[in-house]
Formats: sequence, structure tokens, C-alpha cells
Amino acid sequence: MPRFAGPGTMMRLPAWPTDQPLDASLDVGFVGVPLDIGTSHRPGARFGPKAIRAESSLLRPHNMLTRAAPFEHLQVADLGDVAINTFNLEKSLVIIESFYDKLMSHEIKPLTLGGDHTIVLPILRALARHYGPVGLVHVDAHSDVNEAMFGEAYTHGTPFRRAVEESLLDTARVVQIGIRGSGYGDDDLAWPRGQGFRIITADECWGQSLVPLMAEVRAMMGAGPTYISFDIDGLDPAFAPGTGTPEIAGLTTPQALQIIQGCSGLNLIGGDVVEVSPAYDTTGNTALTAANLLFEMLCV
Ligand code: MN
Ligand code: MN
Repeated sequence: MPRFAGPGTMMRLPAWPTDQPLDASLDVGFVGVPLDIGTSHRPGARFGPKAIRAESSLLRPHNMLTRAAPFEHLQVADLGDVAINTFNLEKSLVIIESFYDKLMSHEIKPLTLGGDHTIVLPILRALARHYGPVGLVHVDAHSDVNEAMFGEAYTHGTPFRRAVEESLLDTARVVQIGIRGSGYGDDDLAWPRGQGFRIITADECWGQSLVPLMAEVRAMMGAGPTYISFDIDGLDPAFAPGTGTPEIAGLTTPQALQIIQGCSGLNLIGGDVVEVSPAYDTTGNTALTAANLLFEMLCV
């Protein structure tokens, strides 16, 4: 079958039949979460999973840079999309959490195609119920630690504030990389630092190899369970324009690879790429990049 033909699953993997219960034969499951009702600016991330899957058809099984060959070691399937309720955010969070609880009960590691960043909260709830508080490698232009947005607790700008309040994170093992742009005040940086997060602003990354930083991150994460949450707006809009809240002067695509490849050897329990909004992605490069970042996560 030509790579561009056939069913549009992630990396052309088998689709797990929706009428068949999950079982422990799977090591990793790709999951789409087509939710964008938590966004504050440009919408459209509900179409992210479909676009990422479409661009992923080009991905072959071997990683030519790291020599990783994940399918020689792991059973992987596309578990389809979570059936969110697009008219009700809080109900959707319950639906998402229950989906990931099922993955946890079979020790299946999730790699998630977002969806806006609100979805990381129910994912972290399910992970923390299984593993206890988790370490976090968070790439983003934004800290996503607002107390509220328009008075609402559950939005794409608040998930990590809620996660701290709910003790889902091991706050001494949280790093946020790529933070920049305009914010609402000093609290955007002061609050997460006060919780013990390590913040790496984008200017600390400009023109730098991130290989030394990732050695520090690996030491910080140790052997504890660690999750990767990658907001595509961590990248510069030159590389990833198709997103809801773009910020100039971001990370490069090679730096994104250095971050994910630098997680090799950690006790990784899953990851996501969120905030891909295909309507603003005229070339498909944003979705292509997201597909590749998910592949790199699978490789580590
Ligand atoms: Mn962001
Ligand atoms: Mn975010």
C-alpha cells in the first residue's frame, strides 16, 4: 500500500477495535483528544488529531538520527479518539480521565494527539492515581498556571495550577522550557517558581544547544515517573504557525528534538503534543512536526 493511502491511523498502525476491550498486550497507545473548548484565542485544535494522523503517514519505523527502532521492542496501536462532549468542558474532562484510567489499568503508556492543553489535567489525574505525583517536562511558550480565565477554573491556561493544587505533580521535578511573550504579570513566572518548578525562558535557549540543559533535566528527574507535555507553541511560529496562541522568538525544531531525545533513559510514563490548530497551518508543517515529535517520544 502506498504510504499516502489506506486507513488514516497514526503512523499507519493497526487501529484497536472500538468494540474490543483494551488488554495488557499493548505497551503504548496513541490517543486523539479532539477538544478545543478550553481555548482562549484561536480555536481549531479539535481537528489536531486528524491532521497529525494524516501527516504521520510519512513516518517510517526507524529513527535515522538516534537509531531507535521502537517497533522492535514495543506493541503499539492507534486507540482512536476519546469521545468527548464538545458542548460541555467539565463532562469532557471526566470522559477523558476515565479513558486514561482504562489505559492505566492495563499498564498502557499513552501518547496523546491534542487537542488544547486543558486535556493534560484529566490525563495527569489518571497518571497520578496510578503512579503517584509525577515529574513533568513541559515545553510551551506559556506556563499555563493561571488561577482562572474569565473566572473559569478549567481552561487551557490553567491546567498546571490545578495539577499542583490536586497534588498530581512532584513539584521538585517539574521543568518548563520555552516560556516567553507577553503575560498578565510577574506572577506568571513567580508562582510556578514558588512551587519549585524550574523555568527555562526562551531567551536562555536562543542559539544554544539544549543537550547540556537536558543532562541537568535528567539529573533532576532521576528514576521517578516522568511525563512529557509538549505544547506546539513552544516552537517558533516560523516552524509551527498552526496554533491558537502563537508567540514570537521561540524554540527551533532541532531544539525540540534535543529536548525529547534528551529524555532518553528517564522513566517515561507517557507524553502529549497539544495545541495544533490545522486551520492556521496552511502548509501542514505544524501537524507534520507534531507527528514527528510523537514519534520521537515513542523512540525514547
Ligand atoms: Mn502555549
Ligand atoms: Mn500550553
